[in-house]
Amino acid sequence: METTLENNPKNIIYKKGLIIAGPCSAESEQQLLQTTIELAAQKKVDILRAGIWKPRTNPGGFEGVGTKGLAWLLKAKQLAGLKTAVEVATAKHVEDALSFDVDVLWIGARTTVNPFSVQQIADALKETKQTVLIKNPVNPDIKLWIGAVERLQKVGITNIGLIHRGFTSYGNTEYRNVPMWQIPIEMKRLFPDLPFICDPSHICGNRIGLYSVAQKSTDLDYDGLMIESHFDPESALTDKNQQITPDELSKLLDKIEWKKSYSNESNFVNKLERLREQINYLDEELISLISNRMKVVKEIGNIKKESNVTILQSGRYSEIIERALKKAKQVELSEEFMKTYMEAVHIESIRVQNTI
Ligand code: PEP
Ligand code: MN
Repeated sequence: METTLENNPKNIIYKKGLIIAGPCSAESEQQLLQTTIELAAQKKVDILRAGIWKPRTNPGGFEGVGTKGLAWLLKAKQLAGLKTAVEVATAKHVEDALSFDVDVLWIGARTTVNPFSVQQIADALKETKQTVLIKNPVNPDIKLWIGAVERLQKVGITNIGLIHRGFTSYGNTEYRNVPMWQIPIEMKRLFPDLPFICDPSHICGNRIGLYSVAQKSTDLDYDGLMIESHFDPESALTDKNQQITPDELSKLLDKIEWKKSYSNESNFVNKLERLREQINYLDEELISLISNRMKVVKEIGNIKKESNVTILQSGRYSEIIERALKKAKQVELSEEFMKTYMEAVHIESIRVQNTI
């Protein structure tokens, strides 16, 4: 039998097609209630999210309304009959959230990076049977993500889910946080039983990309989505560019195609299809990485042109090959393959520089 919210009340995050939505931040009682009423009316949302304590990059920004927002959230929960979720970063946050009957806690990306903080949260959760979602760390270090899961499991937390919200990268990309799909795919392989949720809002940082990232994640057999929704995004105090109205959310969710559950692993076709989709996305990522490499190559070409030096510098090419072969050996790729691949990249690099 498929596990649903109804037949598995113990683990409310275990449901194919789980939807967590709500504003980035609780800003006022009116803002939270208005948004909640509009979301609840659609009957598409399972869990209402709202940030109460906001980790801002720079001081002076809106840092959340604090504990008083928990009372609004409780009111929203009672009014709409939705489960609730908040981000916690300290033991005190955990204590406060639990005292206001919050159903799901999540550990934010800036907290997952810090083992001290994660341990503090884990200690505060000991023996609570609380449901906890763990966002990926801001930096692409899968070990920190794994470590956070292990710290919670060690104190007896069993209802754990994972949220993929993308990774910080240097320079401009089309994303606010680059998805780097290979990391969540590896995480899913390591923890096949944990519900996997995609947060397209923080991956995209804008509204335009939300649907495509959300659909990508469901194609990769994720279990749910966390999407920021505000009744009036333009007036939002945090993340205004990525929040959508409840109505826009509803339209987006209608478009999402949830593939059949792959939980029946004996189903060979499903398994194969899932693996093929993973290959497709990894290939896409590889192509976009190669394209980034070519952009750097072009910049080098410009510098060479300005200083009037030759395109081909054999010393540098040997160095690149040597590095690549060393790396290939570590990750068990054959020398022959690596040479062929690097040669192809090199030929393309020369072509790119010749066009300058
Ligand atoms: C959030 O969910 O509003 C948030 C702060 O997210 P993240 O930890 O992914 O940056
Ligand atoms: Mn946000």
